[in-house]
Amino acid sequence: MIGGGQLARMMIPAAIELGVDLRVLAEAEGMSAALAADRVGDYTDVETVLAFAREVDVITFDHEHVPQAVLRALVDAGVPVHPGPEPLAVAQDKILMRERLSELGLPVPDWARVETPAELDAFIADHGGAAVVKTPRGGYDGKGVRVVRSAAEVSEWFATIAEGGLAGALLVEELVDFRRELAQLVARRPSGEIAAWPVVETLQVGGVCSEVIAPAPHSAGKVADVSADIAFAVAEGLGVTGVLAVELFETTDDRVLVNELAMRPHNSGHWSMDGSTTGQFEQHLRAVLDLPLGGTGTHADWSVMVNILGGPAEGTLAARYPSALAGHPTVKIHNYGKDPRPGRKVGHVTAVGDDLDDVVYEARAAAAVFQD
Ligand code: ADP
Repeated sequence: MIGGGQLARMMIPAAIELGVDLRVLAEAEGMSAALAADRVGDYTDVETVLAFAREVDVITFDHEHVPQAVLRALVDAGVPVHPGPEPLAVAQDKILMRERLSELGLPVPDWARVETPAELDAFIADHGGAAVVKTPRGGYDGKGVRVVRSAAEVSEWFATIAEGGLAGALLVEELVDFRRELAQLVARRPSGEIAAWPVVETLQVGGVCSEVIAPAPHSAGKVADVSADIAFAVAEGLGVTGVLAVELFETTDDRVLVNELAMRPHNSGHWSMDGSTTGQFEQHLRAVLDLPLGGTGTHADWSVMVNILGGPAEGTLAARYPSALAGHPTVKIHNYGKDPRPGRKVGHVTAVGDDLDDVVYEARAAAAVFQD
């Protein structure tokens, strides 16, 4: 696995259970996945990555930032890479993503590629006086996403374009009037088998995921079917292998639109480790190794995951274990081994049960123990 963050870390127990020898190429010492970090090196350097790949059977990722040139070099060297360079290119560039989703006939917000402030102002004028502008590359957790009423509000992004940056363009989208945000996770094997978990509801605070409810309340029937159909079409249409997360908007006029794609285990699927027969990390391993996929049924009616964002103002997460573990014995705690820092995802908790109010309460209360 290339990348040593919390996703690589949470892959370790799944690998141990399956008896898979997981190796991690981490970008620095002491990262979340240090336990399995066999190698520390620069994932943008072809030689570093090729040397790592010589010791493994399959390459996969905990992020989508490995440059295309490195991915191509791996494929040229005969290394199985999952997901492959072509689907990953789509995950790496929000403009290409909108183009490919539109070509596949999938529902997306109205969008345009804009190179100048005049083009952006024209789009805003055509879409009710407001729009969402996104940098095509490198954004995450809401960085690189801005709601604007005028091109002047992103003048520094246009200045960067004028200097030859940001791949020469911005993505602009209609400001979607959504009721809630959903995410549909699926896993697909190279040989084509595909499996979906139930569609989930995600809550974001300041562009960062804070809670996930699985399944999304009131989603049985049409919303679940439409979400799964969209994710199957994306996985098959783009040839994604491994776990695919499709972030969706449920609009106030009852449409489901695709926001974003992630081609790896995703925050919206963390609940599955404790709430589903097969967690997303195990399923990702099965998929990239082209092994039969596991069941995606749930252990109880509801699973609720709450992120620990920032962590305690002083001390470590573990310093709070006595009160968290004593007060919330039914909640599962996941600690990413990171230093607490404002806004940083340092862990999460999951509660599972049949009464949604109780499960939400337990998960929030347990997460709160770790936050000041
Ligand atoms: P990131 O790649 O940083 O996660 P996203 O494209 O997922 O960025 O956007 C972050 C958040 O911004 C979304 O979860 C959603 O709440 C909001 N958002 C993004 N696009 C739109 C849109 N077209 N209309 C309304 N809200 C949006």
